[in-house]
Amino acid sequence: MKVLVLNSGSSSIKFQLFEGTGWQVIASGAVSRIGEAEGEVEYTWQVPDGPMQTGRQGIAIPSHQDGIDHIIAGLRAAGVLADLAELAAIGHRVVHGGERFHRPTLVDDAVVEAIREMSALAPLHNPANLDGILVARRLFPQVPSVAVFDTAFHQTMPRTAYRYAIPEYLYTRYRVRRYGFHGTSHHYVGERAAALLGLAFDQCNLITLHLGNGASATAIGAGRSIDTSMGMTPLEGLVMGTRCGDIDPAILFYLADQLGLNEPALDDLLNRQSGLLGLCGVNDMREIQRRAADGDDAAELAIGITAQRIKKYIGAYYAELGRVDAIVFTGGIGENDANIRRRSCAGLENLGIRLDEGANQSSARGERTISAADSRVRVLVIPTNEELAIARQALAAVAAAGGDS
Ligand code: ADP
Repeated sequence: MKVLVLNSGSSSIKFQLFEGTGWQVIASGAVSRIGEAEGEVEYTWQVPDGPMQTGRQGIAIPSHQDGIDHIIAGLRAAGVLADLAELAAIGHRVVHGGERFHRPTLVDDAVVEAIREMSALAPLHNPANLDGILVARRLFPQVPSVAVFDTAFHQTMPRTAYRYAIPEYLYTRYRVRRYGFHGTSHHYVGERAAALLGLAFDQCNLITLHLGNGASATAIGAGRSIDTSMGMTPLEGLVMGTRCGDIDPAILFYLADQLGLNEPALDDLLNRQSGLLGLCGVNDMREIQRRAADGDDAAELAIGITAQRIKKYIGAYYAELGRVDAIVFTGGIGENDANIRRRSCAGLENLGIRLDEGANQSSARGERTISAADSRVRVLVIPTNEELAIARQALAAVAAAGGDS
């Protein structure tokens, strides 16, 4: 049995095809620039015992339906999916599940409507995610589709963590609250951390730091999300590639007044022109580290603000949890950037957090411990794998539903 994972964005669809017993990736790739004059299809695949192969095709892809057609045709041509009947499930990443979805959910008409309704909360993401679901259901009505939500893992937060101190009717009528995102990743690395610690996940207290272009921190108490840094939208919290994270909301009134900025301009400013990009002109952390090493003060400041914000959340979540078994770094920056990890944990020895600088700086890849032997709190680097998590959850949801859709 095979499981296909689709991550549909507004102009791209990323995919991975898993073989569902050993969970090997047998094909992966993306179609991009959907709707533009020149699109692109990229594939990597491997038939059993064969070499890894890659392919790329420049071609116009007018719609998501064409995109998925290309993916299936490519998988067939590569010999990794002879028949759609081999597909046990299609797992779809869906960004916003609101308060309705607490777990991966088999898609039916009511679920489609609910995801559509949630689009007001995630206008850039949910409609694109839904496109992928609608096309997959239309093209392969016999294959169960499962929606896996970025918000679901955080639905266990207590109301003291998810409510904002604003008038109650804004929550009850307009659903304004903290939802949190990256839930699939926090959950996945949390479970892997528990396995590395030799503990049951539901006995683990963890601080998980997903540091990629988007970044968020989560406090996991007894295996459940009890607080997370992203809020009603993915704008709140840590410093990100182009997003500001936490700021004083009154800055918005001031900018609207002083610069005459309207709502779309403010949205663009804080979501796409801020964060690392706003601080130093680039949002790629590798380039920022190179510039800082060459003496660029703006790059140095961007790194400093990023690390200080991470440290602040480590402290806050430590206080909320009371006891921390491990801190987990993941995402492109969390997995690869020893300097950010070192600066985020510096000076926390009295909290029982002490890095082994040799292990932190090592070029090792994969799951590893970077704390010193005498560190009370383990510090771990765990590469995230959201696609694998989605594939497993999709298959589990189908099995739980009795295998039918
Ligand atoms: P996304 O949120 O888009 O999935 P990723 O998790 O791939 O993002 O993370 C992207 C970030 O990771 C970029 O800022 C990139 O510069 C950074 N990154 C990737 N590799 C390294 C590295 N070796 N050292 C420092 N930063 C890295």
